[in-house]
Amino acid sequence: MSRIELHPIDAPGTDESAWAAWPGLAALPGAADTRDCGLAHVASAVIVAAHPDDEVLGAGGLMSVLAASGARLRLVAVTDGEGSHSGRADPVALARRRTAETIAALRALGAETADVIRLGLPDRGLADREAELAAALARLSAGFDLCLAPWDGDMHPDHETAGRAARRAVRRATRVLCYPIWMWHWASPGDPRVPWGRAFRVPLTTPAAGRKRAAIGCFASQTEDRGGGLGPVLTAGMVAHFTRATEVLLP
Ligand SMILES: [Zn+2]
Repeated sequence: MSRIELHPIDAPGTDESAWAAWPGLAALPGAADTRDCGLAHVASAVIVAAHPDDEVLGAGGLMSVLAASGARLRLVAVTDGEGSHSGRADPVALARRRTAETIAALRALGAETADVIRLGLPDRGLADREAELAAALARLSAGFDLCLAPWDGDMHPDHETAGRAARRAVRRATRVLCYPIWMWHWASPGDPRVPWGRAFRVPLTTPAAGRKRAAIGCFASQTEDRGGGLGPVLTAGMVAHFTRATEVLLP
């Protein structure tokens, strides 16, 4: 009998209480104010999401702060997330639903003026489209101060492809910062696979943290039971990682 190893994303994850109790997280460089993390002069930002909800989970608080300060925001929705229900939902209907959830979430963040560009690349199929994605991101990020993208070490192939494409494509004048998502699930405090030495904390204002929580609540397709024993994509334990008063970014 062979032993079946679960992918780290499918295995039980690290409880948020473990992260909360880890002094290393609180010790990451940060600042007393969200706008004082080398981000004070950001007047425009492109946010790259591999799937609808990545942008909110990983950087929704910062997006809210930037929107409140009048920064120009552009969301590049790389896929429409049609693959999240493992065949238990009609892909076209699911894509439509998730796209609408993104629009509602932007409104919740106070970022409804962001322009949304949907690339329509295949969910769970980005690895074969990296060059095409990189070319699109080079074009779509030109002239922006900041590019926020999924972390290229996140252990989700679509996230890693989106992060690599952003790092590769975005011009020097635009600062690239990556946000981890699944890392909070599969890693444990001090995990050597995470470049903690480069990470920094972005503290969120109370209104921004509240807006982020409301925005996460817009993604019912991801927090509801998918049926067939699959459970939700985002369990309550996973969501707990994203309701902190800080976000962590990796240069
Ligand atoms: Zn994702």
